[in-house]
Amino acid sequence: RMYKRQVICRRDINVFNVPFLAIYESLIPPEEEKLKQNQLVALLEKLVNKEWPAAKLYLYGSCANSFGVSKSDIDVCVAIEEADMDKAKIIMKLADILQSDNLQNVQALTRARVPIVKLMDPVTGISCDICINNLLAVVNTKLLRDYALIDPRLRQLAFIIKHWAKSRRVNETYHGTLSSYAYVLMCIHYLQMRRPAILPCLQDMDTTYCVTVDDVNCAFFDKVEKLGDFGRHNKETIAQLVRGFFHYWAYCHDYANAVISVRTGSIISKREKDWTRRIGLDRHLICIEDPFETSHDLGRVVDKYSIKVLREEFERAADIMQNDPNPCNKLFEPY
Ligand code: ATP
Ligand code: MG
Repeated sequence: RMYKRQVICRRDINVFNVPFLAIYESLIPPEEEKLKQNQLVALLEKLVNKEWPAAKLYLYGSCANSFGVSKSDIDVCVAIEEADMDKAKIIMKLADILQSDNLQNVQALTRARVPIVKLMDPVTGISCDICINNLLAVVNTKLLRDYALIDPRLRQLAFIIKHWAKSRRVNETYHGTLSSYAYVLMCIHYLQMRRPAILPCLQDMDTTYCVTVDDVNCAFFDKVEKLGDFGRHNKETIAQLVRGFFHYWAYCHDYANAVISVRTGSIISKREKDWTRRIGLDRHLICIEDPFETSHDLGRVVDKYSIKVLREEFERAADIMQNDPNPCNKLFEPY
């Protein structure tokens, strides 16, 4: 009887590596999706360049940061130098141009925080959001992609966390929960904080890439292929990392005082950022510093109701990872 109890109490989390990796594999987009995306971008580029010959198109978000699961929408940024026209006007004009081609459900959302045109391409079946001159998003997309190249465990962990967040409906910024971008930063930060570290802090190393966008200086080390197998001294497996991630956010994070910062690869204090009290709509109940727009807290969408929802979901997930006989199913049960 003693023996049996021990087996139950000290179960080996590593038996779940295979099923977690199978979930990860099943979420990776197949190669032909990339081809279709490129086909749509080429079409958009042609249409945009008829009106604005010097405009350039960039992919950003999950279709370009390597954290995109199969069948995601794509995010496109049009870089236009039109000093005399405001973004809303450009968006309206762009919507007109795209409408007259063969694209469907074209909508101009001019009043959103980031104004966009939404559309669906009936040929490829891909939906797409187009924004104007949002070049910081293009740069933070590159930072995320470069981190993903350093250690395969980041992409595995982030896919699983994003899949969990979507299944549990805590990936809805309009309902006060966190964006995919925020979850990926949480994963990067978690791996930076492991000992030995699984990821370095690229913004704390020699600058090999540097651009200034909207007066924000973005500088980091991007020669990641030179880092060799950076995380090799840390042998933690995907199942251990998933369990550790949820345990951290359920029971260890200091919600009252701490800000997680990928920029510094450390935890910094709310006090030093002056994020200790509510200012306008920003409540700072869970603080995730944007790596470039450092005054920007990605947790600012979280309110006093949704913080409860989020923390209960972290606790649920942590408990499942600790005790459930079948965590790979239970974790992702639809809310
Ligand atoms: P999904 O697979 O859910 O579409 P995604 O990676 O495209 O995930 P989103 O949260 O839709 O993530 O954001 C798209 C991109 O927009 C991000 O990768 C990031 O570059 C940028 N972004 C999103 N939210 C913010 C924000 N609050 N501040 C700065 N950039 C942001
Ligand atoms: Mg997206």
